[in-house]
Amino acid sequence: MSALRHPVLGCECSEGWARDPADGVVKPMPPVHDCAYIKRRNDAVSRAVVLANEAVPDRKKDADDEAWTVIFQREVNDMMVKVAA
Ligand SMILES: [Zn+2]
Repeated sequence: MSALRHPVLGCECSEGWARDPADGVVKPMPPVHDCAYIKRRNDAVSRAVVLANEAVPDRKKDADDEAWTVIFQREVNDMMVKVAA
């Protein structure tokens, strides 16, 4: 789904929209999310993917996926602690 501009917040965060299970239509959510926090979180996730890919570049075994996940989670946690501080 391409980014939609929220009618109240004016942002393009994916958190601003959700599919209504009643009719299946994607609708704007109440303007309750923090755009700056969402950006920092998304940046942290993207950075953690890069770092995990660098640490475990060639995933062929389940153990490689497990190692990648451990690094990814650690990096996201470290960055989000800094974001929340
Ligand atoms: Zn937003």
